Amino acid sequence: MPMTRYFTDYAWLGGAQVAERVLIDVTGDRIAAVQVGVERPGDAAYLSGVTVPGTANAHCHAFHRALRGRTHRGGGSFWTWREDMYAVADRLDPDSYYTLARAVYAEMALAGISCVGEFHYLHHGPCGVAYADPNAMGQALIAAARDAGIRITLRDTCYLTGAIGKPLEGPQLRFGDRDGVSWAARASNLTGSAHARVGAAIHSVRAVPPDALDLVAEWAREKEAPLHFHLSEQRAENEACMTAYGTTPTQLLADHGGLGATASAVHATHLTPDDITALAGSRTNVCMTPTTERDLADGIGPARQLADGGSPLTLGSDSNAVIDLFEEARAMELDERLRTERRGHWTAAELLAAATADGHASLGWPDAGRLAEGCLADLVTVSLDSVRLAGAQPATMLESVVFAAAAADVREVVIGGRHVVIDGHHTLAENPPAALDAAIQAVLA
Ligand SMILES: [Zn+2]
Repeated sequence: MPMTRYFTDYAWLGGAQVAERVLIDVTGDRIAAVQVGVERPGDAAYLSGVTVPGTANAHCHAFHRALRGRTHRGGGSFWTWREDMYAVADRLDPDSYYTLARAVYAEMALAGISCVGEFHYLHHGPCGVAYADPNAMGQALIAAARDAGIRITLRDTCYLTGAIGKPLEGPQLRFGDRDGVSWAARASNLTGSAHARVGAAIHSVRAVPPDALDLVAEWAREKEAPLHFHLSEQRAENEACMTAYGTTPTQLLADHGGLGATASAVHATHLTPDDITALAGSRTNVCMTPTTERDLADGIGPARQLADGGSPLTLGSDSNAVIDLFEEARAMELDERLRTERRGHWTAAELLAAATADGHASLGWPDAGRLAEGCLADLVTVSLDSVRLAGAQPATMLESVVFAAAAADVREVVIGGRHVVIDGHHTLAENPPAALDAAIQAVLA
């Protein structure tokens, strides 16, 4: 198998500081060797700047990207935003969703995201009528990721009720399967590939009754697939759960087999001390999505307490109001600073680990997100020649990247050994801004 060599000025290999003059040999889709402090060989491609592992966007709904900038006037709440989101969902079909998602995933590749965790619930056609292939929408997302050059974990989402005890209505009908057994039968027909893995998701305790919680959790266990669920993003969810079941969403999920090291709770914003103990004690991953949580006025989840108790933390762009994993990483620390009036809750290395290795592991790719021999060859090079990073010094370069870099500073991206972004240009997607614009205009027309 031919080998490609990459030489980079600086690389983050997992420590508190970056290493200098690093040579990374890639064979096929894997890193074959990493050498530090070497002269640049003549046959090595040059990655100018600081190279970090590919980042994992651990929680995403691709179609929400069409709402960017369109939901701010007039204030509102999470619940009014949800109505806007339903209106977009109602307009998509497999072809238009493929086109939109491919453009969104190209934006992610340009931002240095090598793998997306797509929390997919828009399964069926208008009025909930299944497509000829009942997984046509999921297949469209898997194809979109492939054609944008990134990997995907498609978390096929069970979504059965509009609220606790209430049937689906309007656009929600497109999200629903008849019951948990129907969900499992459909999801079982999805298969992974070199760039795609299939996982399970419980939309939330609002959308999945207790008997189906058991079923989805069991399906994930049997398939050894990651399981994700939205958890306590809004206080109203907690109140409804308490009224219906006399317990919190976390405890309900715990009682029905939902927690554990291959599970991820998304948001985990409004938790009781017992909830934190249950999540952290079971080593359940917790995915924070700070740019969405602040956009939707959700609140700030107890990420530090969860991590202290044993939960790995991951990061996601969720509603895609912003696609920038550096922003998500620093936002987790900065939110905690605002809450506590103290600095220094996580190191830059810990924040970057959440955005890379821990995110990939939660999506079922434990061999990604590290610049180490044997790992998938995902390299993201942040240019140091922008005004944002001018003046960065080796000793504090990691802090400069995590606290000041933007997605726009990503200059080179290698995903699974393939050079997907060269000098800031996507090599597979022609003119990503125009493609995004056209896809969004088509959906909103
Ligand atoms: Zn979400």
